[in-house]
Amino acid sequence: MKRPIVLHGADHELLCRVGRAVAARAGVGFRDALCGSGLGEGVEVALGNAGGVVVCESDVLLERTWRVELLSRAVVVGLGSRSAGFCGQGVVRDRRIDEFLEGEFCESHANFRVEGLTEAGLVDRIVDLAVRAPIVVAAGRRSYLVEVGQGVLEGAVSEIAFGAPVMLYLTDENVERLHGGRLTKSLQGTGLRVEKHVLVPGEERKCLATLGEIFDRALAGGIDRSSWLVAAGGGVTTDIGGLVAAMWMRGVRWLGIPTTLLAMVDASVGGKTAVDHGLGKNAVGAFWQPSRVICDVEFLRTEVERNYVGALSEVVKTAVIGDRELFEILEQQGALVLGRDLDLMGEVVRRCVAVKARIVGLDELESGLRAVLNLGHTIGHALEALGQYRRHTHGEAVSLGMVAALRLGTRLGYTPRDCAERIERLLARLGLPVVLDGSELKAAAELLGHDKKRAGSLVRFVVARGVGDVGMERIALEDLRELVGGLCST
Ligand code: NAD
Repeated sequence: MKRPIVLHGADHELLCRVGRAVAARAGVGFRDALCGSGLGEGVEVALGNAGGVVVCESDVLLERTWRVELLSRAVVVGLGSRSAGFCGQGVVRDRRIDEFLEGEFCESHANFRVEGLTEAGLVDRIVDLAVRAPIVVAAGRRSYLVEVGQGVLEGAVSEIAFGAPVMLYLTDENVERLHGGRLTKSLQGTGLRVEKHVLVPGEERKCLATLGEIFDRALAGGIDRSSWLVAAGGGVTTDIGGLVAAMWMRGVRWLGIPTTLLAMVDASVGGKTAVDHGLGKNAVGAFWQPSRVICDVEFLRTEVERNYVGALSEVVKTAVIGDRELFEILEQQGALVLGRDLDLMGEVVRRCVAVKARIVGLDELESGLRAVLNLGHTIGHALEALGQYRRHTHGEAVSLGMVAALRLGTRLGYTPRDCAERIERLLARLGLPVVLDGSELKAAAELLGHDKKRAGSLVRFVVARGVGDVGMERIALEDLRELVGGLCST
């Protein structure tokens, strides 16, 4: 079992019986942590001391920040019964079960109605969930699970209740050539009619014209409000697919199957969808969360080396933002990461998704905290645009942008020099560019004002205070330009 299990709801005796049976099956400890504080201290203690299976009141999940925290550390399962409702000393007791299942408790790994399931059946489901340990992205009623692992595609697809006779399936020519057989077979295995549309690969095709072609296909294929869209591919495909899903019939559900490292650790999770317009990258888009994401790291075997290595900059960025252990794993096992050891990459992707899910869960629409995910991106985007998206890949530009941001942080007194050097060393070890070109930076600095994240003449700039510790600072645009223009590797 990868994480502890927190069981809540139903009547206390049933919870304890099921909890003990789950613990026995999984060979882990059991703890009854009934508490009514609403802040979860009892659960905190239980998680800290024992792990295993913890039973608690549903009240414990009412406070949102704590709930998101708990979801990132444990597998949280609610058991509801029509007669007993859910137990708890406060708000929860009198709630109707449907309200419970559809309300804030959607932010959960699963909620099971106990009617119609035997206790043995409940135990099976909970153990299965705990073994898979999917990650929850908490977004109210639009919360969803991200499955991560090697070879998880088929099982995860077969589990989804698509609830419509037809699906629109988007992929691109490269993914179709390399993995089309497996992907199509697993989707057809659901028994649904699969309307496939294969995109020409490339960022240039992430545009409004492509949306038009897909809408035509959707219309011809009878895709309606109840259908799902499935997007299997890199970030271009998942960005396009997500936006089509947001727009078609004012929004349909979508499943993301990212097949590149960048799409797994970043693009397919969090609900940002977009296409480019003119010079504006991601200029036209929407926040539209997927309903499920499946990250099967098997797909990484065939990814082009430059793209794969470039995406490691997002992995390093994520570690710096919120997972010190991941950073150490990358430092110690860089060779295996570069060799695409799939066991290890399962763990790496899982950790990256968990960090992003936690941040998105706390700030879905990027009104504050979520902007920390842009570490290295302000300068990175400027470098990308300067090279007309050809000189550097996105990942390479993020690596250079991060190096610049770290040096700037050091100059401004936010980033300790040894921390900046440690991160730079890791980037270099993973084959990412770290050498800043003074004249390129000067030119990129001029583009900084075009960053859409600018607020007035102040720019929100993400600084690293340490590994696993980042913060946001507002810097006057002119100062930022001058500082960036003055940075270089010597
Ligand atoms: P991509 O989708 O263009 O994929 C890169 C190339 O790899 C393509 O040629 C593709 O056909 C090919 N490919 C995909 N899977 C493969 C596989 N398994 N084996 C071999 N080849 C494969 O680009 P990307 O690097 O995956 O993503 C970049 C895009 O993601 C950008 O458009 C960026 O804006 C977007 N993005 C979005 C978000 C977000 O939050 N929505 C975050 C980061 C990046």
